[in-house]
Amino acid sequence: MSTRSDKRPRTSRIRTAAAAAAAAILAAAVAAAAFILSGANEKFTGAAFFNVGQGDAAVFVYDGGAVLFDAGPNESEDRLLSYLSALGIKRLDCVVLSHPHEDHIGGADAVLRELEVGAVIMPDTEGDPRSTEELTDALADEGCPVYEAVAGDEYSFGELTLTVLSPTRRYGEGNLDSAIVMLSYMDVKFLFTGDAEAESERDAVAALGGEFDCDVLKVGHHGSSTSTTDELLDAATPSIAVISCGVDNDYGHPHAEVMERLSARGVEIHRTDAEGTVYVMTDGKKVWVKK
Ligand SMILES: [Zn+2]
Repeated sequence: MSTRSDKRPRTSRIRTAAAAAAAAILAAAVAAAAFILSGANEKFTGAAFFNVGQGDAAVFVYDGGAVLFDAGPNESEDRLLSYLSALGIKRLDCVVLSHPHEDHIGGADAVLRELEVGAVIMPDTEGDPRSTEELTDALADEGCPVYEAVAGDEYSFGELTLTVLSPTRRYGEGNLDSAIVMLSYMDVKFLFTGDAEAESERDAVAALGGEFDCDVLKVGHHGSSTSTTDELLDAATPSIAVISCGVDNDYGHPHAEVMERLSARGVEIHRTDAEGTVYVMTDGKKVWVKK
């Protein structure tokens, strides 16, 4: 394993370790510490899509640990920490940061400083300079390893498997380079798409289409019409879709085209702007939204 100094990102571009070595290193680290969760969340297994305003932050919790997908905007970081605390989460097996835009990594520095984080997985792409600097400083201060998200890589944490489905190549643009990650827990699958857009969705489906089939979809780019293509939906066939966006946001998210694409396929749609935090429960065989 590389030394801490090797891991330290030195510019606004996050430098990542060789992904090939990541799975083995993570598996060993997690096996030693995956049970350090309090009993508070023993009755909750599934994903909480947090209401962090205009941004993304979701956690998957199961009896062996927890994985965070994105950390919301900077202004919601205290709220995010409260949500995680309320679920009894003190340690995260890993944090997947889909891409380094402020509405996804703004709260990541606070998470790294407040919780024990086994590793960060994120793509190597350009990001928001200020948020990236705060993240870079927190990673260095906490000595947290970072692994580059590359399509085809797999990470295992007990009963959980994370499979990276995108980026299949480097686009050089944050949204397009978003990590698309499939979480598999027993028989159910949750697909997290960051802000991936049509071009990268299509490339990934063309390369790995058979891997996209899921039960729950975190809708890409807050429901923007730039994302959630017919190609993606035909490959993913979710039964539940969650859109994370702010009330009366400046972008008009979610866009009507995306709502229509989901509705046409009979997908059950939930929105954080309308419902607050959305809890999608699972027993490992089926999924349902907590009322
Ligand atoms: Zn975003």
